[in-house]
Amino acid sequence: MIQLSKILCPTDYSKTSDKAVRYAIELGRKTGAHVRFLHILQPENIAEKTAFSYGVAAKQEKDDIVTEEFRKLLMEEKKKGLSAEVLIIRGNPYDAIIDQVHAWGADMLIMGSHGRTGLNRILMGSVAEAVFHAVDIPVLLVKQGSKAKAFPEA
Ligand code: ATP
Ligand code: MN
Repeated sequence: MIQLSKILCPTDYSKTSDKAVRYAIELGRKTGAHVRFLHILQPENIAEKTAFSYGVAAKQEKDDIVTEEFRKLLMEEKKKGLSAEVLIIRGNPYDAIIDQVHAWGADMLIMGSHGRTGLNRILMGSVAEAVFHAVDIPVLLVKQGSKAKAFPEA
């Protein structure tokens, strides 16, 4: 039997990763799997990078740790029975995602093919590529241009 009780969904709150979030919600609900959303905070400027490398907490990040929109969406879905949580950590996105896959024992990864940079001419972003290469669980890569009834703008 295939085990599908833990779905890991890394999100950078970009448009494409929002699409992956929709799939994670739907699959979580349909299978009863628990969904862990993961957001990795990265230092944005030199001062933050320096503080970061010395292990000092820099000032509050510009981007919300959990965006209001995401918080709302999750609350609604949880009311409708989704089992989910959000984990925020600092680090390199690909290292952190790969670590989480192993440490948590995720059964499946759902993520976007692209993220905030979103260069469509490349097949997938660097985080997607590094993670896809490194893990040995199935990865659902939701493409930037993918269409689905659930996507508000599609
Ligand atoms: P690049 O970062 O290489 O310039 P990109 O931003 O278009 O390109 P990726 O960063 O590889 O593409 O994003 C692919 C997917 O990886 C996203 O849809 C998201 O699921 C995940 N991801 C990227 N960055 C983060 C992050 N900081 N936290 C959580 N997940 C992330
Ligand atoms: Mn990126």
